Amino acid sequence: MTHLAGGCLCTSVRFRVTGASLCVSHCHCTFCRRATGAAFITWMTLKSGDLVMTDGQLSEYQSSPGVWRGFCATCGTSLTYRHVDHDEEIDIAAATLDDQTTVVPDDHLWTGSMVPWLEFADTLPRLATHHWEHGYPKRD
Ligand SMILES: [Zn+2]
Ligand SMILES: [Zn+2]
Repeated sequence: MTHLAGGCLCTSVRFRVTGASLCVSHCHCTFCRRATGAAFITWMTLKSGDLVMTDGQLSEYQSSPGVWRGFCATCGTSLTYRHVDHDEEIDIAAATLDDQTTVVPDDHLWTGSMVPWLEFADTLPRLATHHWEHGYPKRD
């Protein structure tokens, strides 16, 4: 398969995606909102071995017990999310991929925390919590 690539704003941290995504989710939780400074973030969930850092150094911050958020220490771009209780997977910020035509969202997470000033016209499933409670979307 073709490998997706991406990186941070200043280009010092670069990565490659070497496998298919498990799911692609818009996360509306308050933690992601503050961590990114944006209304929501779109995570592409991968098997942890399928995210390969190819350039630079990913810095990490523990934002809540067991949750590590990866970012570029130079430019501050949010890049990854991982939970130590689910170390078989890792999320990459989908909007940091070079080719945005490869991003196909599956669902919305933590919709109870959505900002009140955005409306979404899509018909994607809206989950109250995380995939860990609901399971992954079906792939064809
Ligand atoms: Zn950077
Ligand atoms: Zn979140």
